[in-house]
Amino acid sequence: MLIQKESDKSLYTDVWVVAEVGGGKVQPVTFELVGAARPLADARKSRVVAVVLGSGVGNEAPTLFSHGADHVLLVDDVRLAGFTDEIEASVLVRLIGKYKPEIVICAATTRGRALIPRVAVTARTGLTADCTELGIDPENGDLLQTRPAFGGNIMATIRCSSHRPQMATVRPRVMKALEADVTRTGEVLHEKVLDSDCSKIKRIVEIVHGADSAVNLADAAIIISGGRGMKGPAGFELLHKLAQLIGGAVGASRAAVDAGWVPYAHQVGQTGQTVQSKVYMACSISGQIQHLVGMQSCDMIVAIDKNPETPMMQMADIAIVGDVFEVIPEIIAEIPRL
Ligand SMILES: Cc1cc2nc3c(=O)[nH]c(=O)nc-3n(C[C@H](O)[C@H](O)[C@H](O)COP(=O)(O)OP(=O)(O)OC[C@H]3O[C@@H](n4cnc5c(N)ncnc54)[C@H](O)[C@@H]3O)c2cc1C
Repeated sequence: MLIQKESDKSLYTDVWVVAEVGGGKVQPVTFELVGAARPLADARKSRVVAVVLGSGVGNEAPTLFSHGADHVLLVDDVRLAGFTDEIEASVLVRLIGKYKPEIVICAATTRGRALIPRVAVTARTGLTADCTELGIDPENGDLLQTRPAFGGNIMATIRCSSHRPQMATVRPRVMKALEADVTRTGEVLHEKVLDSDCSKIKRIVEIVHGADSAVNLADAAIIISGGRGMKGPAGFELLHKLAQLIGGAVGASRAAVDAGWVPYAHQVGQTGQTVQSKVYMACSISGQIQHLVGMQSCDMIVAIDKNPETPMMQMADIAIVGDVFEVIPEIIAEIPRL
């Protein structure tokens, strides 16, 4: 148990960002979290500490400093290769007990969602999952954790007033990474994995990736997204073909997901993923607000719809008025000539 008394809150300082690590590298979502942590730490006159758990991650600190971290807490151990939530959770709880961060944030990725609840429960503190906005109450240092609630019908701001640390997972692609400043430096603190952190794990036999893990909308530069007008799974085959030809990923509106034409992992929007691709092609998606909030930050929006008056067609940089079953095959036919 880390803290139960109000009076102990003053012992807790700094904003921790638990880095998302994959293949020995800190993943880009971490820089978004560091960008989000910076104003929180500034408001509390404290520091941003990036916590990196992994194997072969010894060289990752400079990029974290350049994106806004003040300190890097590095735990580099072969037992952290791959992802074992029990070990990482045990290490994190120990370090939280030792350093007493005021705030701990982590990406709401598969890894973060598996890891952080274990940590919060063991540390006996609160956790708000899937935040889309973070702020600080200047009166008392409470972290204001805003997230969609009741199926996205309201935005709820949640506090963890009597316990520390305050913990939150943050949706990828919602926060902005800071411009990298290579002149920034900081301090690296080294910590170890103890045998006691690994006591529960016997042996990982195999890691099996599900079919949906191939859908990586968050990192896709081009997204070809389909809506109700694709009319069924065969329509989505057309989108997959186009996406494959131009190296894109396939997204979808909730209408298409609810109809069972494409798995939920493809859904973009308020109750799906938030994306920030360079190109977002919306094929027969009308552009209701719940969809727009998930993709409106994309650099270029191309829309294809029979109806030129839809919100998506009105906001698009390029709006093509036409039938998707005519326009998309024409685009596919042109690609070999480009
Ligand atoms: C709490 C809540 C959360 C939600 N979360 C999400 C979310 O995360 N993501 C999301 O997408 N939605 C979400 N929705 C649903 C959202 O409100 C819309 O219902 C949904 O986005 C509509 O999907 P759509 O644009 O594919 O369908 P529609 O609105 O029916 O639009 C279909 C479009 O296709 C066009 N069309 C039809 N046939 C063709 C053709 N042959 N060629 C060209 N164009 C054609 C039509 O003109 C129309 O513009 C949520 C709703 C609620 C209440």
